[in-house]
Amino acid sequence: MALRPLVAGNWKMNGTRSALKELVAMGEGYDAALRAKVDLMICPPAPLLFTAAAAALGSRIAIGGQDCHTAASGAYTGEISAEMLADAGATAVILGHSERRQYFRETDALVAEKAAAAHRAGLVAIICVGETQAEREAGKTLAVVGRQVARSIPEGATPETVVVAYEPVWAIGTGLTPTTADVAEVHALIRRKLVSRHGKQAAGIRILYGGSVKPSNAKELMSVPNVDGALVGGASLKAADFLAIAAAY
Ligand code: PGA
Repeated sequence: MALRPLVAGNWKMNGTRSALKELVAMGEGYDAALRAKVDLMICPPAPLLFTAAAAALGSRIAIGGQDCHTAASGAYTGEISAEMLADAGATAVILGHSERRQYFRETDALVAEKAAAAHRAGLVAIICVGETQAEREAGKTLAVVGRQVARSIPEGATPETVVVAYEPVWAIGTGLTPTTADVAEVHALIRRKLVSRHGKQAAGIRILYGGSVKPSNAKELMSVPNVDGALVGGASLKAADFLAIAAAY
């Protein structure tokens, strides 16, 4: 079954209000032909969410957050809840990105709790998994990704509530990408794990590939079985690149 692809842009900690002109240009380029074949989403830094949601209104580009806290509100200085993201206009949130796992020591259990919080707030959870270079070199890729999928994705995941993103840590921001055979192997493993734990309907959960996706390699990566879209970092900052990736479908 070919799923409707999603190309999601993760702006990370990049962009001030002036960057919204790129989002507006993306909206202008997201024409009927593109809309017919691919969903688009941009995940800007939190201070831009509300304005980004307003700027994207009418273009059908969805807006997402990049992280959330597990609680709905409370004394957690500096944190942002899933409910707040939803209130600002987000419909999804990236969770368990390798930068959060690495720099903020997020565990699989915490990611699963955050995914449950996203569900509570009505947000789609885009749950990231992926091995480090050392893990790949040690032949542990499938074990690591399998474990992350088993532990980071909460019970009851459905195509409406969860998207999985496979992002090899060593491919993020490096210009390196796995071979299509390696991508196929990991995506097939993720699909098997999803279906065995969450049932047949999990065949409809989208599995994105992320890590140095750019216009020149998008077509090849997106043609791999079980690759239902892309999570794009650097190349999502400019409308021309992002739209070129979307057009790879
Ligand atoms: P990149 O980042 O496209 O810049 O490699 C991908 C990501 O971290 O989601």
